[in-house]
Amino acid sequence: MNAEPAVQLRLLDLQALDSRLDQIEHRRRTLPALATITDLDGRLGALRDRVVAAETEVADLERTLAKAEADVEQVRARAAKDQELLDSGRITSAKELESLQQEIASLARRQGDLEEAELEVMERLEDARSALGTLTAERDQLTVARETAVAERDTAWGEADRDKEWVGSERSKVLPDIPADLLTLYDKLRADHNGVGAAALHQRRCEGCRMELTPTDIGRIRDAAPDTVLRCEECRRILVRTPESGL
Ligand SMILES: [Zn+2]
Repeated sequence: MNAEPAVQLRLLDLQALDSRLDQIEHRRRTLPALATITDLDGRLGALRDRVVAAETEVADLERTLAKAEADVEQVRARAAKDQELLDSGRITSAKELESLQQEIASLARRQGDLEEAELEVMERLEDARSALGTLTAERDQLTVARETAVAERDTAWGEADRDKEWVGSERSKVLPDIPADLLTLYDKLRADHNGVGAAALHQRRCEGCRMELTPTDIGRIRDAAPDTVLRCEECRRILVRTPESGL
């Protein structure tokens, strides 16, 4: 394949721009903020389940407490009513009085038991609310951290997009200078060789694979016509001669 030396140099410009685009893409994909977001999403997901469980426990205990309070209130009301009856002096029968007093005593015991149970539920509810508070605080903290990471990502992506646009416009200026057959070869080699299809020969070294060329290869290159498209014997990339090739 043949191409004028100036066209071959232009191919190096194209390679530089394509490498820049690859770097921008790589930067986009490997942003530390992306790993942070993934990590936080995982932790927030796990936390969400625990928050739901804690909220359920609080709600259950609130219901239990309401029931316990109602139970206490019911016994208290009945005891008050009995006490009122006792104090009214309307009960004159000794047997009935004794029975009423027994009931009041029994209700007092019952009320004591219920209040103890109520207190226990209140303590459990306090613990559950405290646990929920800890979890929601952690969730809020992670949510803020995630928002920060998302903002970082968006800023970096915005910069990358602007860089990409600029490099892309430069690339579109270079592209018309490259003949179709050379471009096809370059694209194929780029796909096969880590994004580098064309490399400069710099100080007798292929910039693509960094190998120093043998004296035989250098001799062969010296003898080659300037418009011959050379290939590196080592990596097969297009090898472009420049004033710094050391020939
Ligand atoms: Zn090479």
